Amino acid sequence: MNRKLSKQHFEKANKVMPGGVNSPVRAFRSVNLDPVFIASAKGSKIRDVDGNEYIDYVGSWGPLILGHAHEEVVQALKDTAARGTSFGAPTEIEVLLAEKIIEMVPSVDMVRLVNSGTEATMSAVRLARGVTGRDKIVKFEGCYHGHGDSFLIKAGSGALTLGEPSSPGVPKGSAQDTLTGEFNNLGSVEKLFDESGKEIAAVIVEPVAGNMGVIPPRPGFLEGLRKLCSQYGSVLIFDEVMTGFRVHPGGAQALYNIAPDLTTMGKVIGGGLPVGAYGGKREIMKTVAPSGPVYQAGTLSGNPLAVTAGLKTLEIISRPGFFDELNRKANDFFGKSIALIEENELPLSLNHVNSMGCLFFKPGRIETYSDATESDTDMFSQYFASLLKAGVYIAPSQFEALFISAAHSEEDLAVTLDKMREVLLSLSIAS
Ligand SMILES: *Cc1c(COP(=O)(O)O)cnc(C)c1O
Repeated sequence: MNRKLSKQHFEKANKVMPGGVNSPVRAFRSVNLDPVFIASAKGSKIRDVDGNEYIDYVGSWGPLILGHAHEEVVQALKDTAARGTSFGAPTEIEVLLAEKIIEMVPSVDMVRLVNSGTEATMSAVRLARGVTGRDKIVKFEGCYHGHGDSFLIKAGSGALTLGEPSSPGVPKGSAQDTLTGEFNNLGSVEKLFDESGKEIAAVIVEPVAGNMGVIPPRPGFLEGLRKLCSQYGSVLIFDEVMTGFRVHPGGAQALYNIAPDLTTMGKVIGGGLPVGAYGGKREIMKTVAPSGPVYQAGTLSGNPLAVTAGLKTLEIISRPGFFDELNRKANDFFGKSIALIEENELPLSLNHVNSMGCLFFKPGRIETYSDATESDTDMFSQYFASLLKAGVYIAPSQFEALFISAAHSEEDLAVTLDKMREVLLSLSIAS
């Protein structure tokens, strides 16, 4: 497979952009390769600048639940663009999107649109701090909430639960206000609340972890967080930027039947354009400016193009049978992948929740961050490179999710399973 033009573009890109990219994982560093430059995509297929075609399971990291360049979304975008791309003034479609979100996500009474998942989580945490008058937040190691200062914190060493910045440039002060718990270990959170419950403004969690591979919540974990937050008057934030409109039309909160106080959204909600949102209980949302004192704003928030793509996408996924069909395909694909592992006694493990999943290069159950980090990332890199060569494009990291979209055909999925079988049996693990 020739990737000459990708290579040339990347050399040029490296001179003008840090690492040659606008977001780190795209650079393929964790798999020791050069990135593929994309020229175009349609449905389940993505095509690079050298003319190679791949079946795509990245789906722009989650948004493209309908696949690439869906006819109806493209047409709606054309119609909107012809009428003007930005006004910085209210439009009716923003109201329609807000109504649609509220209809779909059970705990959301009011919503504010922003431009990315990062912006949504940063704003939700400010709001939680604003309404509680407290500064500390609890997050979980291995969960990702975008690149806001409060989230780029890892657990400190030693017995103290004080965090440390995980990136230069994050002030120590931010680290002091972020406490870190262990995902799927309720005891670790109870301990944090025992020590400083009255100072905790919010707990923020991915209800299905999707940024350390895919790890579903253990029974009782999310329920326990709900209880602790209610008991201490802290705000429970479900970061559903990845899981929202993906694992269930109403997000993970509908799948597991737990009502957070605030929800952050992104990815699918923009249908491939930059949109984020945060929403929740009316009495909390009413404290956002201009109806309340907690400030948050955006020049391009509610942008007509972005809102059009999001609204059209949510309309399509709300049609009868959409999720039944998507989940049937996904459950069949992941089920067959698990059978492949078991029949060949491969030292691998697969987690999935409906159409998001992850193949871990480690046997046994993967239920925590430390389970996930024990994966054999060298073996993953070999797997990734071989699949790419075979025309299957998955995320270039062991710790990212794989997404099935409505555009994947039975044939795409069957071909992919064949390629996976071939590659996995040829890797040295299959001895
Ligand atoms: C992708 C993601 C974010 C960040 O969203 P951006 O649009 O990349 O800023 C936040 N939280 C979760 C759970 C995500 O998966």
